[in-house]
Amino acid sequence: MNPELQKELKQKLEERKTNIEKELQYFATKNKTGDNWDTNFPVEENCDDIECEEDEVEEYENLLPVEHSLELQLKDINIALEKIANSKYGKCEVCDADIDEERLRAIPEARTCTKHK
Ligand SMILES: [Zn+2]
Repeated sequence: MNPELQKELKQKLEERKTNIEKELQYFATKNKTGDNWDTNFPVEENCDDIECEEDEVEEYENLLPVEHSLELQLKDINIALEKIANSKYGKCEVCDADIDEERLRAIPEARTCTKHK
C-alpha cells in the first residue's frame, strides 16, 4: 500500500479514535479489563418520584445502543491501527484482496473489500 496514503489514513483513524473516546466519556466508563465501555446509569438530581425514575431508565435504554455502536467502531479502529503496525492494513479479511482506496478514504477502518462488506 502507498505509504503516503497509509500515513494519511492512520492520522484519520487516530483522530476518530480520540473523538469517539471523548464522546463515550460523556455517558460511559471504560472497563478496567480492556477496551469495553459501560454506559453510566444517568442520575438526575432530586429524583424521588416514579416518573423521574422512569425517565432515568428511558434515558439509559436510549444510550445503550449508542454506546454499543460507538464501541464497535472503536474496536474496528483499533484493529485497523494494529494492522497498520503489522503492515497488514488495507487487505480484505475475507479474500485478502486490496481494499479500494476510495472505500478506505470513506471508511478507514473497513475490514473487507466492497464485494464482502
Ligand atoms: Zn473481499
